[in-house]
Amino acid sequence: MSALSSLVTQVSEEDDKKKAAPTPAPVPQARPAAEQKRRSCWSIFCCCCAKTADDEPPPPQGPEVKVPGPAPGGGGGGGGGDRKVDPPPKPADPVPGPAPTPGPAPGSEPPQEEPKWLLDPFSDEEKKMNKKTLVLDLDETLVHSSFTYIPDADFVIEIELDGAIYKVYVRKRPGVDEFMREVGKKFEVVIFTASLAKYADPLLDILDKDRIVKKRLFREACVQHYGNYVKDLSLLGRKLEHSIIIDNSPFSYMFQPDNAIPITSWFNDKSDRQLLELLPFLDSLLEVDDVTTLLSQKSA
Ligand SMILES: [Mg+2]
Repeated sequence: MSALSSLVTQVSEEDDKKKAAPTPAPVPQARPAAEQKRRSCWSIFCCCCAKTADDEPPPPQGPEVKVPGPAPGGGGGGGGGDRKVDPPPKPADPVPGPAPTPGPAPGSEPPQEEPKWLLDPFSDEEKKMNKKTLVLDLDETLVHSSFTYIPDADFVIEIELDGAIYKVYVRKRPGVDEFMREVGKKFEVVIFTASLAKYADPLLDILDKDRIVKKRLFREACVQHYGNYVKDLSLLGRKLEHSIIIDNSPFSYMFQPDNAIPITSWFNDKSDRQLLELLPFLDSLLEVDDVTTLLSQKSA
């Protein structure tokens, strides 16, 4: 996968259709050098639409590597930290050295680590508003982007990579502007994407022109789980019963499926109305104390 396409975590339209009607994978064939070269160039585009983490099912066995999130509801500081999962460090070989410093006195409290939440705590003013948090995916949920020219792009952004400038053509899902305006009045809106900030930030500067989104979370805020980027809502620093995610990839919300509103992957269907059709349902979520009571029924 090229460095360019690795900025974006997308599902391709082709692979999205394959989910519905899986076909056997073709047997790789040796190709002439000229064709290999042509395909390598093509991969700059194709990789952004090739099989991505969105499509990789978890392996049937193996150790779980989820980083357990801190319990929701606490306070703490803000920005998204690196959630990369590393194996536990090996203990060093014992070597002679100074005597270890004495631990806490028996009966004393162990030192508490300050939890790092992905979102800043609510201000006193925000606490009074008691808003629920709506987490929105970006690619194939709100927009579809292409590294090759598309005639009906709504806007174009430029990305600098290794000293070169690349254009990214962005289509907006029908109704996305109205959808953003409406949810912005009622929810704390967060964009949570597995793509990189280098791509998503300039895109959101244009898409979110009214600055409805309170926080942008990128790939490094995801938890890696069996090769997938999972958006662990328990790390937000918000009550789970007040947190909702809308995402086209079920892997994204696999840790909290009862907080999710699934949405189909969108590429270019101009008749699509899913975002606007969700607004009444989102209004109903404002009326309940625990959104999972409704969302678990929806996915059942
Ligand atoms: Mg997506």
